[in-house]
Amino acid sequence: MTRKQRYQFVIDYFKQHAPDAETELLYDNPYQLLVAVILSAQCTDKRVNLTTPAIFHRYPTAQALAKADFDSLFPLIRSISYPNNKTRHLIGMARMLVEDFNGEIPMTVDQLVKLPGVGRKTANVITSVVDQQPNMAVDTHVFRVAGRIGLTLKATTPLAAEKQLIQHFPKELIHKAHHWLILHGRYVCVARKPKCAICGIRPACKYYQAHPLPEA
Ligand code: SF4
Repeated sequence: MTRKQRYQFVIDYFKQHAPDAETELLYDNPYQLLVAVILSAQCTDKRVNLTTPAIFHRYPTAQALAKADFDSLFPLIRSISYPNNKTRHLIGMARMLVEDFNGEIPMTVDQLVKLPGVGRKTANVITSVVDQQPNMAVDTHVFRVAGRIGLTLKATTPLAAEKQLIQHFPKELIHKAHHWLILHGRYVCVARKPKCAICGIRPACKYYQAHPLPEA
């Protein structure tokens, strides 16, 4: 199978089996999504979703969050990984939004990465989810799954994987492909022991070719 055929197989499979794939973070607007994505670093979406309702209730806008002080916000975040840093990042992010961006979430990666707590991955998530821009956020799941299937070849960094993926997925599908790969990595192609027995990608998967299931 050529690389092109491998991509086509993956696209056809997910179009059929996960046509509505989307983020599992709960949010109602770009501000809420940005807060949730910042909180989700090194943390599960499930835990973030348990935490954000209280934050959004108390700080419904960037303007409100910009006025928060550390001791008020920290207790709402303490059950999440790296609560000290994330408390500082959220307040800093909101203050910069108010001071430099009129309280609006900017919609370019270059502007977003200026905000405290926002790296390239987060900026790619925001612009692809909110604005369907053809940006691919490569987290640990995307990196692992793309490498196993053979969508990326010899990519040693998330940025290298990102470049290969955006080169090969059709532009209009990139924002969707991000969710396909994340969700597949979360529930099927899991880190320690991929569930190849139940995986529909097997015919196109390089890892599976090298590690086939034993005959029944
Ligand atoms: S066949 Fe196995 S390794 Fe390949 S994508 Fe599916 S679960 Fe992952």
